[in-house]
Amino acid sequence: MPKVKKLTEILANKIAAGEVVERPASAVKELCENSIDAKSGRIIVEIENGGKNLIRVSDDGIGMSAEDAKLAVERYATSKIYNEDDLFFIKTLGFRGEALPSIASVSKFTLITREQDKPFGFKISIEGGVIKDACETGAPIGTTIEAKDLFFNIPARKKFLKTTDTETGHIADTITSFALGYYDKSFLFIHNKKEIKNFPSSTTQIERVKDILKITNSEDLYQIKTDSPDASVTGWAASPDYYKTGSKGIYLFVNGRFIKNRKINYAIFQGYRGRLMKGNFPIAVIFIKVPFQQVDVNVHPAKQEVKFLREKQVMSAVSEAVNAALKEGEKILISKYQNINANQNPTIDAPSFEKKTTQKYQREKQSFLYSANDYTSEDIDYVKRQNELSEPRAYYGKTAQKNIIPNAEKHPDIKIIGQFLKTYIICEKVDEIILIDQHAAHERILFEKLKNKEKTSATASQRLLIPEILETGLAEAETIKSLMPDMLKIGLEIEPFGKNTFAVKAIPAFLSEKQTAPIILDIAEQLIEKGSGKQIENVLDSTLILIACHGAIKANKELSETEMKAIIFELFKCESPLKCPHGRPTLIKMTKKEVEKLFKRIN
Ligand code: ADP
Ligand code: MG
Repeated sequence: MPKVKKLTEILANKIAAGEVVERPASAVKELCENSIDAKSGRIIVEIENGGKNLIRVSDDGIGMSAEDAKLAVERYATSKIYNEDDLFFIKTLGFRGEALPSIASVSKFTLITREQDKPFGFKISIEGGVIKDACETGAPIGTTIEAKDLFFNIPARKKFLKTTDTETGHIADTITSFALGYYDKSFLFIHNKKEIKNFPSSTTQIERVKDILKITNSEDLYQIKTDSPDASVTGWAASPDYYKTGSKGIYLFVNGRFIKNRKINYAIFQGYRGRLMKGNFPIAVIFIKVPFQQVDVNVHPAKQEVKFLREKQVMSAVSEAVNAALKEGEKILISKYQNINANQNPTIDAPSFEKKTTQKYQREKQSFLYSANDYTSEDIDYVKRQNELSEPRAYYGKTAQKNIIPNAEKHPDIKIIGQFLKTYIICEKVDEIILIDQHAAHERILFEKLKNKEKTSATASQRLLIPEILETGLAEAETIKSLMPDMLKIGLEIEPFGKNTFAVKAIPAFLSEKQTAPIILDIAEQLIEKGSGKQIENVLDSTLILIACHGAIKANKELSETEMKAIIFELFKCESPLKCPHGRPTLIKMTKKEVEKLFKRIN
């Protein structure tokens, strides 16, 4: 008897399911793709227990005839491609004819469908790949597919499913990406009979993009719109004021398909070049359209990646499109400033600190003004006034001043030479030249203050006039809740506002209101990436790093001498002044000897 045997269809389907259906979110993805391919305008995703007990996707699309429905659940049956040539001309999201039989082989599956011109519909029930029932039935126009007890017949697989919250989070992400790609369709997501996400169909793309990226101001989204022979690139690039510390803010669509592609991510980065700090990632929604025959969509089991025939050209089209959009946006911004200048508003050229409200500026000054040795009399007066304000017993006289300017003697001989590229502070210390990265240094200062929960501006709070309401994934919500007491100590007041919704009522004074939503969402995302089960201490640390990073002065900002002095002074008060909390150096130095060697004065 031969040892080689053909697999049964059921087993073959189960094996295919291993690749196609990794977790509930992958089944949801396949079913939504089918609904979109069927030209639906409204898609409803209902799940129970993270999709482990029930996944139900209903649409109002074109439906299927009884005959088609019976074929659709068979392996390799598709209405989307018919011959080999079609495989290199794919206009639909599906094409392999694998999803329905795969899902049906690992769940208790029901398909109900009705075409528009038919008086009744058709229902087919399958359990673990075996057809149990097939009959005519009354049904609304469109298709509803239900998968119950996913992996009930593959316990080894079921074991790998994560918690309900985690699986629900993945499904929510899947639906969000479809909603971004198809703004004219409505998406409703229900978990355990409760509405989790609702995206009503929208008439404009920007409306959907703003809703999902949580960017309320249209002016902070720059429109991308370019056409090159290799690719048309459209979409929205968020102002560099918004950023993330991972690539999760980049949403990429190729011919309508949501994909991941590191090279295109890199191209987007290139478009943002010079505008973002190292380690920060842009936020952008990019739609690339390439001729169908120039992209291979059949390279990944879950169709999450594609291969471009003319990859380099597509990359440069993306970089240029993003760069052009940002440039255009900056032009508008600059022209606004010029208008204000014409009205003699003096605050425009001032460094970022001074642009803020007076009260906040004062608070910041208070901590920054523990200045280096060569403070001016104006500085001293200022500090005196601040001390008078904050403490009933004012300090006067020489000895008292020393107290106000702590550790001045610690580095009595640092002299500021100036600022290089509006990014590095150049200074001289006895026989060394020092370059300080202003962002990295300020990040270190803020991080240590936050960590020590000092009673300084770093932990002073500003109340938001209108609390910012934020929605996070279910999995992150728990961790955010456990962080709340520590966050409160640093001036970030967050209160639960429903299951995975929070109200941010106050933020640390050094942050601007605009930064609230991006920061909290960034924290939530870090929690997922790092794993929310990690020790709370680690999570807290990375949260503080994130807040410090968002709050620290940026590169490319002109600083006044007082501000430079303050940074240097505060930096040397830090416990670990030489590295920013991400581990980058805050300063580099060269000794007199090294300089002399370079100039060949000595050997
Ligand atoms: P593919 O999408 O690769 O063709 P599937 O197994 O996902 O393979 O679906 C098989 C076929 O069933 C599709 O080609 C389509 O004709 C039909 N189908 C699936 N879902 C729907 C739906 N929601 N509405 C209408 N037709 C559908
Ligand atoms: Mg499909």
